[in-house]
Amino acid sequence: MRCYSCGRLSFRIVCETCKTTLFVPSIQTRRIGTLDVISFYSYATLEPLLLTKHKPEGWRIYRELGRMLFRPFMQEFVEQDDGEVCVIGVDEDIRSGYSHVAQLARAMKMPGVNVTHGVLRACNRVNYSGKPLQYRLENPRDFRYTGKENINAILVDDIVTTGATLHEAQRTLVSHSVEVLFALTLASVETD
Ligand SMILES: [Zn+2]
Repeated sequence: MRCYSCGRLSFRIVCETCKTTLFVPSIQTRRIGTLDVISFYSYATLEPLLLTKHKPEGWRIYRELGRMLFRPFMQEFVEQDDGEVCVIGVDEDIRSGYSHVAQLARAMKMPGVNVTHGVLRACNRVNYSGKPLQYRLENPRDFRYTGKENINAILVDDIVTTGATLHEAQRTLVSHSVEVLFALTLASVETD
């Protein structure tokens, strides 16, 4: 196949050169309420790849990003932390046949890590794109949680903008006695 970024022949959808030069992660942590949100990139760095989300090859790019970033992060996490942890994808939307968020979450599957599927679903799928925080707060996602209670969990989403969605997801989980350790996202959009 060809590298999606530079077009050169590559075994992977993002070639080694692009991986090590263009898409160098710069891990950042934002605090939203009581939740730490860890992101691997600023949105601007990753934008060319994230725009593939709605193209047919999008799921392969998400799978590759999951393997590049989420999996090594989780391997390091389980080395330092004993005890079972669950990974919960935020609103794994399967309307298009597969979920981008699920691709990221799936890459985190390893001993000690239980990756859940579709247990945190939004009842309200209003489009937040380009909307201010106030609008997001007035139109909550209205999450339904159908997973296990009394567990430790890591929330996974692709992009964090205002953090309103993650904050709401955390509140829903807490009401089901799920302790959210932190949230992990691919990219953070600077809203300042
Ligand atoms: Zn490349």
